[in-house]
Amino acid sequence: MRCLYCRKPAGLIRRTCLRCAKVISVVEIAGGEVGVAGLVDIFIAEGLAREQVDAVLDAQIGDQPTIRDRLTSNMANSLMRGLGMPGRQTPEDVRRIRIAAAAGNGTGTWVAGQKPPPGH
Ligand SMILES: [Zn+2]
Repeated sequence: MRCLYCRKPAGLIRRTCLRCAKVISVVEIAGGEVGVAGLVDIFIAEGLAREQVDAVLDAQIGDQPTIRDRLTSNMANSLMRGLGMPGRQTPEDVRRIRIAAAAGNGTGTWVAGQKPPPGH
């Protein structure tokens, strides 16, 4: 089987390689609390490379929102609740916004892994 996240060989029956599984377990333990920025410190402490983490966070599995989308919606909702507003942004909302931003009039936005547009 190939790893769902990084596409490297993961083993006979594993669908996730050990390194990606570690990234996911960190996200599950701490992701709801600290967001992507806070997670970076934990990933470094766990000895995980930035590219490895990005591959997992941005992995597109079917038409599911990515892990980064989920983290972004968590953060947005807790920020809004902190301001006394109902935080109701779903991971699907984040995904839609991200795709729209990447597809349209996207000067100044680029997808991780691609070259930035000229002038940046
Ligand atoms: Zn993997």
